[in-house]
Amino acid sequence: MIRKTRLFTPGPTPLLPAAQFAMAAADIHHRTAEFRALYQRVLDQLKLFVGTKNDVLLLSSSGTGAMEAAVSNLTSPGDRVLVLSAGKFGERWTALGKAFGCEVDVVSAPYGHTFSLEEVRKALKIETRAIFMQATETSTGVRHCVPAIADLIKSANSNALLVVDAITGLGTTHFDMDGWGVDVLIGGSQKAVMIPPGLAYLAVSDKAWEAMEISLNPRYYFDLRKERKNAHKGESAYTPAVALIAGLGAALDYIAQQGGGDLAAGRAALVENAETCAEMTRAAIAAMGLKLYAPDAPAAAVTAVLSPEGIDSGVFVKELKSRFAAVITNGQGEMKGKIFRIAHLGFFDYMDTISLIGALEHIAVSVLKLPGFQFGQALTAAQKVFAQRDPQAAAKRECQCGREVSHCARKTAAVTA
Ligand SMILES: *Cc1c(COP(=O)(O)O)cnc(C)c1O
Repeated sequence: MIRKTRLFTPGPTPLLPAAQFAMAAADIHHRTAEFRALYQRVLDQLKLFVGTKNDVLLLSSSGTGAMEAAVSNLTSPGDRVLVLSAGKFGERWTALGKAFGCEVDVVSAPYGHTFSLEEVRKALKIETRAIFMQATETSTGVRHCVPAIADLIKSANSNALLVVDAITGLGTTHFDMDGWGVDVLIGGSQKAVMIPPGLAYLAVSDKAWEAMEISLNPRYYFDLRKERKNAHKGESAYTPAVALIAGLGAALDYIAQQGGGDLAAGRAALVENAETCAEMTRAAIAAMGLKLYAPDAPAAAVTAVLSPEGIDSGVFVKELKSRFAAVITNGQGEMKGKIFRIAHLGFFDYMDTISLIGALEHIAVSVLKLPGFQFGQALTAAQKVFAQRDPQAAAKRECQCGREVSHCARKTAAVTA
């Protein structure tokens, strides 16, 4: 049979055709009025997409570049910082903090889980200068509660900055950066915004801008103050990834269309889309008798599935690729061979989701001949979720902090509208 290549990976994600056309047509010099108009428009759109009044900056780098920029711009050697770590990306914050000479305290949760708020409360010290965390930990499929951490900082009367890697959180989770008091919120191009890798973006609060004035770590390419100065003139400090920026503009137009022309509503629709694909997938996994790796706080960005006893998860990755050209990801690091991950962030629809579930069932029943597995169980469960899904009810699911999972959803849409 013909096989169409399809990415089900949590970055890079499938590309939006309209963005691909925009990239192909982006034969523009970056010191021209034409580029300045594009850049200004995309930066304004990004503010609406993130849902903030703060400046949003674009960097030509992968997401890690923006993570590094947050650390180098906000800290000085010897500063005490707190990292909340529950997977490979949390560990990256720790490594970055150490690379820039910080004294790094770590609150960690076992892979597949989120942190105990009590432990975070205990680890937050008077001198803690910043807290670094993920909104969703892509390596394990866990969603962390950002507003709970923001509240904790406030209730402890702490002056710590809150820096959130929302690289797979944006477009899959509702955020109210300004309302909660998040100081830096980071996104990446190859995730929910449906374009190739190579751009990172970050929203920065006034409090973070002030902190940058007194921080002493070295920075040059990632000097955010310089980037902001240039952005105010509609330019970037150095040669930007022009084609990606054109693609991003087209993608944000598309996201706005999903909300009838309103980017805030479009972002909410994108989140609901990811949540629907994720819920269909979780139901399918349960119906097959497989287990989720992060059942307690599952992210809508990506679903991590434990491979059945005695079967290397790489077998699922390999069989899906060779039989159906469907690309999913194995676990990273210690999780390699134990879990496989299916992405829902960005340009995924019902057809993508249902076909992957059908293909997964084919591997389990017909290729691996797993005892007890039957055709149709996973598909039926996913079809029922789709047919019966009530976004209002789904939003009422309880979060770790005791509030509704999307406690910020309507509010954010209202603020930005
Ligand atoms: C993809 C991702 C990153 C960034 O990785 P890059 O390879 O540098 O783009 C960071 N954090 C999370 C949670 C991610 O999913």
